Amino acid sequence: MTQSDELFERSKKRIPGGVNSPVRAYQAVGRNPVFIKKAKGSHIFDEDGNEYIDYVCSWGPGILGHADEEVINEVQKACQDGLTFGAPTRKECAIAELIAQMMPSMEMTRMVSSGTEAVMSAIRVARGFTGKDYIIKFRGCYHGHSDGLLVKAGSGVLMQAVPDSAGVPSGYTQYTLIAEYNNCDSVAKLFEEYKGKIAAIVVEPVAANMGVVQPKEGFLEYLRKITKENDALLIFDEVITGFRLAPGGAQQFFGVTPDLTTLGKIIGGGMPVGAYGGRKEIMECVAPLGNVYQAGTLSGNPIAMTAGLVTLKRLFEHPEIYTQIEQTTKTLADAYRNAFKDQVCVNQIGSLMSVFFTKEKVVDFASGQTSDRKKYADYFCFFLERGIHLAPSQFEAMFVSVAHHKEDVEKTIQVIDQYAASQKR
Ligand SMILES: *Cc1c(COP(=O)(O)O)cnc(C)c1O
Repeated sequence: MTQSDELFERSKKRIPGGVNSPVRAYQAVGRNPVFIKKAKGSHIFDEDGNEYIDYVCSWGPGILGHADEEVINEVQKACQDGLTFGAPTRKECAIAELIAQMMPSMEMTRMVSSGTEAVMSAIRVARGFTGKDYIIKFRGCYHGHSDGLLVKAGSGVLMQAVPDSAGVPSGYTQYTLIAEYNNCDSVAKLFEEYKGKIAAIVVEPVAANMGVVQPKEGFLEYLRKITKENDALLIFDEVITGFRLAPGGAQQFFGVTPDLTTLGKIIGGGMPVGAYGGRKEIMECVAPLGNVYQAGTLSGNPIAMTAGLVTLKRLFEHPEIYTQIEQTTKTLADAYRNAFKDQVCVNQIGSLMSVFFTKEKVVDFASGQTSDRKKYADYFCFFLERGIHLAPSQFEAMFVSVAHHKEDVEKTIQVIDQYAASQKR
């Protein structure tokens, strides 16, 4: 028995499914998870001493690579001064200023401790500001596990949501409407049917939780237009895309400015952080200035702010990082396309990528669902056994960091070619 297997058996007795977040259990790829001991740069190491090139990057935060020296040093220094005060600090001020510089639509920011909390709070603010109750989300987009967002499409043409988890009363999802990603008509219909009642659209500007799906030309612009026309707010959930597609996130990349933005993952530099913010007049609704209540004992935690600040500063001062990680990702995408030809659909944008095992073009939730999950599981295991750690689910993104160097890419391409060859036999 490996150390990982033994730890998994022990964990299963005391932690539901042996893991603290479901996808880590590797259920979708039909094997036991590896337990990680440490990581450095682009590589992670498991409890059995195996080394892997890591394309999960902790699901997005690790844009600088694991255990970046400066981040670790600054965090260690910050720890000496105390772990938490429950009072305002200079660093919270500095990070809010830096965010506004990198992402100008974030005129005001409130720090929280996770992406889930960020989106949940932004929606509360949108409702408080507009005085309306309904929100629109897109099928296949993920916005954390809060009750009103843990939904799937109900029956009927106009999709009112139903809970997608036990424990969520249907009353909690009755104000959530579901539209199809990349489908403007589905949005227009909801605005007709629920005229004057929609507070906001919340969208991942690049969908990255149904596999990576880029917005079609004009889609984000349309969302901007229809929300303006209907006095509704546009919320970009940039928990993945923020500071990843560009220093100013997807809103800079596509040139579409939302009213509110939610952030997470990279913003914490590896610590648990989320944030939401946007136009000043909207954010002034938040307590203590306004009557939308939202609070957090550890919000703006000094250690987390330190890791976030060092990370964001590096990205801000070195925009060439974005050219580098995009190039690395493009090289990998091309290698997949060359090796598998029309047997897969590779969606790549910036340093985000997905390899769908389908011959169809993946442009929304439904087309993503045509991919062969058994093939994905087989591909995942083949790569893991050869020292490459991929997302253990077809519908999660592959993340590339600045720490992925030429040798990593060359080794990955070798394994891609080996796998493609093994499929032809
Ligand atoms: C990960 C993610 C969230 C949730 O963030 P947590 O920190 O896991 O709560 C929300 N929205 C998007 C787009 C995400 O990818």
